[in-house]
Amino acid sequence: MVKVGHGVATVEGGCGDARRDLWRVYDDLPICACVASATGVIRYVNGALRTHLGLADPDLLGRPLESFHGTGGGERPGLRALRDRNGAERWFAETIQPVDGPAGEALRLHLFTDVDAQVRREIALQGRVAQLDALFEILPVPTFIKDAQGVFTACNQAFERYTGLMREALLGKTSFAMMRSGVAQAHVEQDRLLLGTDAATRYEEAVPLADGNLRLIDLSKASYRDGLGAPGGIVGVVHDLTESQPYEARLEAILEQSPIGVSVSRRDDGRIVFVNTRFAELIGLSRDQLIGSRARDYYLDDHQRQRVLERLRGNGAVVNMEVQFKKADGSPFWTLFTVNQAVIQGAPVNLAWIYDYTERRNMEEALRDMASRDPLTGIHNRRSFMELARQQLARAHRFHEPLAVFVLDVDHFKKINDTYGHATGDDALRMVAGGCQAILREYDLLGRLGGEEFVVVLPGATADETRVVAERVRRNLARMAIPAPGTTFHLTTSIGIAGLEGASDTLEKAIHRADLALYRAKREGRNRVVVYEPGMQSV
Ligand code: GH3
Ligand code: MG
Ligand code: MG
Repeated sequence: MVKVGHGVATVEGGCGDARRDLWRVYDDLPICACVASATGVIRYVNGALRTHLGLADPDLLGRPLESFHGTGGGERPGLRALRDRNGAERWFAETIQPVDGPAGEALRLHLFTDVDAQVRREIALQGRVAQLDALFEILPVPTFIKDAQGVFTACNQAFERYTGLMREALLGKTSFAMMRSGVAQAHVEQDRLLLGTDAATRYEEAVPLADGNLRLIDLSKASYRDGLGAPGGIVGVVHDLTESQPYEARLEAILEQSPIGVSVSRRDDGRIVFVNTRFAELIGLSRDQLIGSRARDYYLDDHQRQRVLERLRGNGAVVNMEVQFKKADGSPFWTLFTVNQAVIQGAPVNLAWIYDYTERRNMEEALRDMASRDPLTGIHNRRSFMELARQQLARAHRFHEPLAVFVLDVDHFKKINDTYGHATGDDALRMVAGGCQAILREYDLLGRLGGEEFVVVLPGATADETRVVAERVRRNLARMAIPAPGTTFHLTTSIGIAGLEGASDTLEKAIHRADLALYRAKREGRNRVVVYEPGMQSV
């Protein structure tokens, strides 16, 4: 409230002197000022405002202030455009204060501060933002803006169409609202690297969207800074390549997602021209290292490679063949290997698919092994022994080579169990198996027939030669000091031997004869080796 001097009676529009006295304080004010009635009739104008409008008092006093308002006023609270007598407009910040008139009537003091330059800048900027907004909105390319925390702050219609999500569902959320968390996490990490670097990145990737569809996109991103120069966020443009990309490029992107290693090598010089990420992982080299190298270098042995090549020549393809490859560090791994021949861009190539089979194969081997081994001693069980021994017997018949069998039984084993306990008995059986193996040749076959009875097939050995080996086994076992609780003890064994008899001899018959010889050994006092002779009976 501006308190203005003494009250002098006056009428509106008249009494110039009194009025001039009353508001003379504003005359030399460096900003524009005027006093108007409550209805907007001008009662006083100061020097600065007269200069600005280019008019003198007679043209101003008594006229409505409104008649000098510019066209753009009104919409901007606190701002007023005023027009001079030539029609040129200028922007002012307008403040209005109540003042008393000479007769005490309620009037208003209008103060105008020149803010023309700022307002024109702001108007220009708003126009520019509106232009960009309109452009952003009609761009047929999905475009988005995220803040520094990865929260979507803007997107255009194309982005809504692309994601299938309306902006209400998107803005204020992060990538996690749109895609699988693993993929979203990768985006978060990309963005973190980009933020505050002033760099732009561009990469192709296959993005699974919320609806589960895989889209192949080319994503361009750049970081922006806020008005103070701090990292503001990320702007991104999505170029959906799924439809537009050439067929090969789309195929390549699909191969890239494959959990199976894929390579393409030229048939003329064997050089690799394409590998997917899985292939590079399996070999343990980068793509750059692999491309241009020779496929042959990754086979574990040349023998297997030759087999692959033979089948390829014969059938034109190799399907799910078990082939071993080696990693960059030399370690081997088993694969199911498939190769197809193709012609790509005029060049004959081999398309190879490698499926890492190592774990499954190891498991299968362990299972096979478990099924064929005696769990106590680790040597062949009865079934596995019989199978392998039969093969040896057939071979001996075919090549007219000698072969002998011996059966070994621990003497008074019941007493060992009774004296030292069953667990010590088990240890003794393990040691008997080990003691036999130590003497036998690599290709002799040792199995556990059951209980404390063992059986050996010696390919290429006659009964007499086998007697020598059996003696050595017997002596070796007798020498072993077997640990028992608080002591050690020794055991003895009896062995019966039978050689192959004629072309129609069978494994079962040979073992039966060896059993008869063993029976004789037991009867003659144990701890000895007996070779079967015709006429031996079990009674
Ligand atoms: P002999 O000299 O006449 O062969 O006498 P023996 O006591 O060895 O007689 P026999 O062959 O009849 O006894 C075999 C014993 O072996 C019977 C059984 O309790 C024991 N046995 C069988 N299998 C196992 C095993 O896996 N572990 C242990 N600790 N003992 C076993
Ligand atoms: Mg026995
Ligand atoms: Mg026995």
